[in-house]
Amino acid sequence: MEYNGINFDTYFKNYPDENGFFGKYGGAYITEDLKKAMEEITEAYFTICKSSKFISELRRIRRDFQGRPTPISHLERLSESLGNVQLYVKREDLNHTGAHKLNHCMGEALLAKYMGKKKVIAETGAGQHGVALATAAAYFGLECDIYMGTVDIAKQAPNVARMKILGANVVEVKEGLQTLKEAVDAAFAAYARDYKDSIYCIGSVLGPHPFPMMVRDFQSVVGIEAREQFMDMTGELPDAVVACVGGGSNAMGMFSGFLNDPVDIYGVEPLGRGEKLGDHAASLKYGTEGIMHGFNSIMLKDENGEPAPVYSVASGLDYPSSGPEHAFLHDLGRVKYDVVSDDETIDAFFTLSRLEGIIPAIESSHAVAYAMKLAKEMGKGSILINLSGRGDKDMDYIIEKYGIR
Ligand SMILES: *Cc1c(COP(=O)(O)O)cnc(C)c1O
Repeated sequence: MEYNGINFDTYFKNYPDENGFFGKYGGAYITEDLKKAMEEITEAYFTICKSSKFISELRRIRRDFQGRPTPISHLERLSESLGNVQLYVKREDLNHTGAHKLNHCMGEALLAKYMGKKKVIAETGAGQHGVALATAAAYFGLECDIYMGTVDIAKQAPNVARMKILGANVVEVKEGLQTLKEAVDAAFAAYARDYKDSIYCIGSVLGPHPFPMMVRDFQSVVGIEAREQFMDMTGELPDAVVACVGGGSNAMGMFSGFLNDPVDIYGVEPLGRGEKLGDHAASLKYGTEGIMHGFNSIMLKDENGEPAPVYSVASGLDYPSSGPEHAFLHDLGRVKYDVVSDDETIDAFFTLSRLEGIIPAIESSHAVAYAMKLAKEMGKGSILINLSGRGDKDMDYIIEKYGIR
């Protein structure tokens, strides 16, 4: 299928290019030391990902350890309450650890094993990526250093405990505002010192090449499964596909299965409390081109051109940029990026729980909220939503802030 001059039949072969660019976005804006390390990973990935041993081991892990394929569920009662459009969810909440992040962490850790590395390194904000990577490290018997700001350690005690139970070393970062940005810097610095024995594992389709490509490829299992399951269940393609976008990994995984189909694709960003800078984290909707954390994309900037403070009710979505491939698909118009507010999201959280018996993560509730609005607009047809994770991790926050509705 061709769209605005791009041939999607050969899309995955051409994007990213050999330097990691999706159009003008992506690349690797890093020090020479780190560049060497990234080149080593890129080369290893291109060799290993084609080996039948790697592919069959990853397949076996997905089936026997993660519980894949995750199903698709038809949301009959929610659909009926909205009109004639039929809504379906891809159940990444049923993936081991309760979200999609393990899909790329298992891939990255298996790559580390094949490369003979002893340790995996990462940063974490809310702790979800740290827990997923600590899980993968435990499975493969790798050491695991997770960098986390002091403020986040205090806020995310249960995830810190999970990482420690899984055998990870949680490294406290006391610099600056003591949150995600400082944790990224500290983790990258540690990796630059130790790249011979370790590998950095990025938590989304972000960072320097080859990570946006690698994480997309590992997550594409979601879209490939979903497309086949949806065809089996309904005999046709969905009219629309919807996913929430933080860094953009669950969305890229789902979208990659449908880019070459006549399907409308929607990425949903958090509008938070409103349109004012600092009140949301909708980088693709309100941001401009810029470089941070080693890649060129669309980002939210403060008056000095630095990454702006962001906010969302969903801690997994509060990042001031999104993956370079999303910036590319945004400019191309192949994917439409739109926003929902905190209030719409929390309504969707309670509605899906009450009508369908599925308590979604607050991140995923953004996609559900958007699909509920879209269903009313469309009037007929079908929508497939990526339910990126389950809401158990959000219970304490929901009860404290919103009570039980
Ligand atoms: C981390 C997280 C997200 C956001 O990350 P993406 O890379 O944008 O997918 C979304 N949903 C859940 C459940 C998460 O844990």
